[in-house]
Amino acid sequence: MTDDISIRIPANLLPADGRFGCGPTRVRDETLGDLAGIGSSYMGTSHRRTTVRAMVGRVRQGLADLYDLPDGYEVVLGNGGATGFWDAATFGLIERASQHLAFGEFSSKFARAVAGAPHLEPPQVIEAVPGTHPLPVPSDGIDLYALTHNETSTGVTMPVKRVEAAGLTVVDATSAAGGIPVAPEEFDVYYFSPQKAFGGDGGLFVALCSPRAIERIERIATSGRWIPPFLSLSSAVSNSRKDQTYNTPALATIFMLAHSLEWINQQGGFAWVSERCARNASILYGWAEAHPMAYPFVSDPSIRSQVTATIDFERPVSGDHLAATLRANGVVDTESYRKLGRNQLRIGIWPTIPPSDVEALVACLDYVIEQTLD
Ligand SMILES: *Cc1c(COP(=O)(O)O)cnc(C)c1O
Repeated sequence: MTDDISIRIPANLLPADGRFGCGPTRVRDETLGDLAGIGSSYMGTSHRRTTVRAMVGRVRQGLADLYDLPDGYEVVLGNGGATGFWDAATFGLIERASQHLAFGEFSSKFARAVAGAPHLEPPQVIEAVPGTHPLPVPSDGIDLYALTHNETSTGVTMPVKRVEAAGLTVVDATSAAGGIPVAPEEFDVYYFSPQKAFGGDGGLFVALCSPRAIERIERIATSGRWIPPFLSLSSAVSNSRKDQTYNTPALATIFMLAHSLEWINQQGGFAWVSERCARNASILYGWAEAHPMAYPFVSDPSIRSQVTATIDFERPVSGDHLAATLRANGVVDTESYRKLGRNQLRIGIWPTIPPSDVEALVACLDYVIEQTLD
């Protein structure tokens, strides 16, 4: 067992592209090329004028098409990413009390944001150990149920089912959106940032909102509660209806999201995405199950993520050493989520990643493990 990272992986084993991170994720070369291509006719122009507003319109249309949004559902955009949306929801979506399913770093963070709000009751938090997920418990007095479709820190995907209760079902879909299908009837709000499965860039939040959610947003906005203007979901709704955002967005982010959406829709939407991600997942989990020193961290196969795969290793194989060696060979961002504290790799297997690259990654892992154990 060695811990030096001087192992050189033969070039013929390496993936065509070495980006396997869980966010920001691999951006397609076509997206970057086309962004450079439209260059000066788009970047550096006013977000209040047709050029940029038409791009926002393409994002909204692309999402309505991909999700087959029912009548009355709206695509709402704003600045601040998913983290910004948590604060916006704390002010503008939770009426009095929320329930949060906490099963990893991201799902816990929304609950922590809510816990500090003086205008709300302390949130109800239902926890489950990492590698599993809890289920919501319909309760009187809860007006918002906070679910996380894919817990990026652990690689667990939970089913998105509307909670049979009076409250809204609000889903953090940051790493699921674009990679895992969902039925819009099952949520009131499905929100995400574009730098995960969509292979875009950060800074923006997108929220698919049901008519009930829009009604809630408007009711709280006119209730007299103080809401910081930047975090107002009501202004996000009214600006989005005009294909704009409240303040200046990153124009490249909007272009990249529109580009990815149109690419995914052209490939066949979720039927195509799901098959591709399932194929990537089966290569990786299948490899881990067959390997004597590796195994999938999530023991229940039905909740293993098809976009963020977590693989545990038996000592003396070291996840940290594997990740460092891969990095030294240009294969980056396979490190595990630090706070989870496992002997693990976490690998992004997004729609932007072709199965051939996942096969190559597995060959690289075999090679490095063999060299290390020699
Ligand atoms: C990445 C991530 C976030 C945070 O997204 P930001 O754009 O950085 O705010 C929130 N939730 C989940 C599930 C994530 O994967």
